[in-house]
Amino acid sequence: MQEKYLKNIKYKIMNDKIKKLQEEIEREKRIISNCKHTFGKSYYNPTTKNEGYGYKMVAQGSDVWGEYQGYREVNVDRWSRKCTDCGFEEHTFEQKPIVTGYEPNFKK
Ligand SMILES: [Zn+2]
Repeated sequence: MQEKYLKNIKYKIMNDKIKKLQEEIEREKRIISNCKHTFGKSYYNPTTKNEGYGYKMVAQGSDVWGEYQGYREVNVDRWSRKCTDCGFEEHTFEQKPIVTGYEPNFKK
């Protein structure tokens, strides 16, 4: 009887905590979506991903298909930047060339 009561109290405390965290998430989302974002300097911030390698045939009953032999963790280039106002962090895996300007274009 008391054990069940304690269990219910525990769930109630957990639910309150979850509710508070959800409210906090909503508040942060609002702050981020209302921000015009002033990004600081971008920085190299590599990460990892799982990449399939090899090939094997798998048969189950009359079904036969091909599958990766396994997965391994590989490093991936990534760049990040953070908003100095709201803390929103943005990532990209791409780079674009920097246009440095113009120079006189003498024909020959
Ligand atoms: Zn921002």
